Amino acid sequence: MRPAGLYVHFPFCRRACFYCHFFKRVFRPRDAASFLPLLQRELRLRRDPGLRVDSVYFGGGSPSLLEPGQAAALLEAAARSFALDAGAEVTLEANPEDLSPARLRGLRGAGVNRLSIGVQSFQERDLRFLRRGHDAAASVAAVAMARDAGFANVSLDLMIGLPAQTARSMELNFRLLGALRPEHVSVYILENAPLPAGAQPSPERDARLYHQARRALAVLGYSHYEVSNFARPGRASRHNLKYWRMEPYIAVGPSAAGFLAGRDYRDVADLGRYGEAVRGGRLPEARSKPLDPAQRRVVTGLRLLEGIPAAALDPFREQAGFLLKEKFLVRRDENIAVPAQKILLLNEILEYFI
Ligand code: SF4
Repeated sequence: MRPAGLYVHFPFCRRACFYCHFFKRVFRPRDAASFLPLLQRELRLRRDPGLRVDSVYFGGGSPSLLEPGQAAALLEAAARSFALDAGAEVTLEANPEDLSPARLRGLRGAGVNRLSIGVQSFQERDLRFLRRGHDAAASVAAVAMARDAGFANVSLDLMIGLPAQTARSMELNFRLLGALRPEHVSVYILENAPLPAGAQPSPERDARLYHQARRALAVLGYSHYEVSNFARPGRASRHNLKYWRMEPYIAVGPSAAGFLAGRDYRDVADLGRYGEAVRGGRLPEARSKPLDPAQRRVVTGLRLLEGIPAAALDPFREQAGFLLKEKFLVRRDENIAVPAQKILLLNEILEYFI
């Protein structure tokens, strides 16, 4: 049985962050509770006991607002629809302020075994700019509580592109991160967000800070495996690798994107239409134009530092030849990859294939 991933989108947050483009609504416990049976219904609609699910990812939104019993009920629904592996990687995205020892123990007991915590920065100035609901102490406490609750696989998110960030503040972030020793780190560049009066976007500064982050993480023992992702040996996200390696993944919840039997789909990004479809026994998919499989292979695969098998570039010989000559692509054993020093130019490089 070929393994698949399962993405579950929980579209509620305590507040809507000004820089966030994910589909979400402001959390009201009553709405969230009435939404969960819809997710369970969609899981039933997508039932396929022939799919072995070896990774589950609760994303959002803020799935750390889920009560442990609700997370357990969703996992039970998943196990009724698919062959859910006993050793599946089960990740839950979490905001530090939502975590408490009791909730973490409950989530761990429910079967969640990996946390992806949205730290963003350990500098109060950065957190105030982002209007986050936590401070640096809450992030440090969240990691400690997660360890106490038995989480041996923790990922922390950091953000680059915040107006007050400097090489020094990044160094302080990585010093603290080194002490916390998460198994995995994601580093995102904030883009297209409104900046305070007088602040100018500076892609050059962001690129400098990104490469500083790469070097700091290498020194701390993390390997850079995808544009934004770094892992200790053996700790790359099993779930997210499926996206980039074009392995199958089921997705449920409004706006969630899946890839099954070589077909991309996306659920409607609208709670009303989502509920209507699912209640009526229909898959809540939005109409979408299928991507050309050869293009998709290149566009998703080149995000990985390991690259893609050279044969995947056969339909694009001319473009690949030019990019190799100009060193925007390099050969890596049997693969072709974007070199880490040029990975921030990925979007420009991908334009050659679209
Ligand atoms: S908490 Fe996360 S998902 Fe929710 S609005 Fe903020 S950044 Fe977006």
